[in-house]
Amino acid sequence: MAEKMLKFVDVDQKMPDKRAADLRRQDFDEIYDEWIPERAAEQASRCSQCGVPFCLIHCPLGNNIPDWLRLTAEGRLEEAYELSNSTNNMPEICGRICPQDRLCEGNCVIEKDFKSVTIGSVEKYITDTAWAEGWVKPVVPIIEREQSVGIIGAGPGGLAAAEELRKAGFQVHIYDRHDRAGGLLMYGIPGFKLEKPIVQRRTELLADSGITFHMNFSVGDDATLSELREKHDALLIATGVYRARALKAPGIGLANIHPALDYLTASNRKSLGDNVPTFDDGTLNASGKNIVVIGGGDTAMDCVRTAVRQGAKSVKCLYRRDRENMPGSMREVKNAEEEGVDFVWLTAPEAFDGTDRVESLRITHMRLGAPDDTGRQSPEPIPDASEKIPCDMAILALGFEPEELPVMFKAPELSVTRWGTVKVNHSTLMTNLDGVFAAGDIVRGASLVVWAIRDGRDAAEAMTDYLLERTAPSVQAAE
Ligand code: FAD
Ligand code: SF4
Ligand code: SF4
Repeated sequence: MAEKMLKFVDVDQKMPDKRAADLRRQDFDEIYDEWIPERAAEQASRCSQCGVPFCLIHCPLGNNIPDWLRLTAEGRLEEAYELSNSTNNMPEICGRICPQDRLCEGNCVIEKDFKSVTIGSVEKYITDTAWAEGWVKPVVPIIEREQSVGIIGAGPGGLAAAEELRKAGFQVHIYDRHDRAGGLLMYGIPGFKLEKPIVQRRTELLADSGITFHMNFSVGDDATLSELREKHDALLIATGVYRARALKAPGIGLANIHPALDYLTASNRKSLGDNVPTFDDGTLNASGKNIVVIGGGDTAMDCVRTAVRQGAKSVKCLYRRDRENMPGSMREVKNAEEEGVDFVWLTAPEAFDGTDRVESLRITHMRLGAPDDTGRQSPEPIPDASEKIPCDMAILALGFEPEELPVMFKAPELSVTRWGTVKVNHSTLMTNLDGVFAAGDIVRGASLVVWAIRDGRDAAEAMTDYLLERTAPSVQAAE
């Protein structure tokens, strides 16, 4: 093994090649090229096979990273795929969009003096290869059970739970208000980070496993929560968080100020070939406009880079703290800068100006003051430091909160926290309603795909225990 590994001293870190920024600006395709097998094996061989692998500890799924890196370095890709797939329902998706710099790679021990192992790219390479080679197969349960499970929400949390519950032999039904499955993987995250066929082949695989999808089905309108409880032996709520955090400023009611997700959904639908009147009439289209995106997280990064691709005249991103203190991934900031986005650090919107639609934006310059309760320096306005910038369209990317689920589901009996997230018992993962579980962003608040997958897998395990306890002894004896 030793001669294949520990190559970090001699082999430099290499990411897959990025397409040139001026080419990237012209389409919504992913920006990284595919790896050739030799390059993947070489990069995997940089791992030092730590006895206590911090990469694994900091991966929310506890992926067995050192072992699949070794198998990749040895050219044993099918085994690497089996191992990677055993802890992750969507390794090729996490490999593409996890903020690795804050998770596995950011904690790789060779990161300090050498550059970390490119874990995410190897993970993507392994499972992309598995798809190409036909190793990815639908689940075939060892035993079919009569009990049925309803899952509300076809995002990564709901999909991961569905696959695990199907493995255990349950009859799985997914309900989603959208026409396509995937949740934010489909309509939030743009194609240049995650091409949509990658998501679609995953959901098709689940359908081929015998999971039933009920699309265009909005729980609350098409059935109440209690009607679904009667239909199924257990339910999982995995509805994500969608209410855009509001901004208070003079002029906020003017036209051409839009929530980020409306803007991104229109763009994703257009790329999928849908008829999108709000895009075609120019309302949600950045072409030829001066765009200002307000916010510093992943959603803001996706908006600015989408606006560039739509042919905006200029794209600015306003964030009230500085580069070092922004929540978005540094890798995404770099990509955005290469593509021509102008980051205006330490600024906040003061007022939107215009007659009926926004024409310009007054911004205040900020400085970082004393640390708050969390130890983070609070931004405060610098007196008399305002300026006006052109703005034909403003996009608000200030984060998301849960919708009022008890109202939406017509289920006042469902307990939620004061933030509106669903309350679960942290050992059973069950809500206050018997047999109703919850997972993903609707429990933890806006988070990450990898955490939604983790929560979906944990919920599936808890639901399996719950359902097996209720399986008739005669059925248990037959198993
Ligand atoms: P969701 O993905 O939100 O799925 C919830 C599903 O529930 C949706 O399909 C919705 O239609 C459905 N639903 C809601 N209400 C109902 C109802 N009443 N009836 C039926 N169906 C319903 N994370 C990363 O790790 N990396 C990234 O790069 C990244 N980029 C992001 C970019 C954007 C623009 C956004 C908004 C988020 C991003 N995230 C990213 C976060 C990530 O997408 C979420 O954390 C993750 O999708 C949460 O998964 P989920 O299954 O809990 O919910
Ligand atoms: Fe890293 Fe995410 Fe893959 Fe875990 S799932 S190994 S955090 S890229
Ligand atoms: Fe390999 Fe880095 Fe993980 Fe150590 S921390 S096992 S070097 S990937």
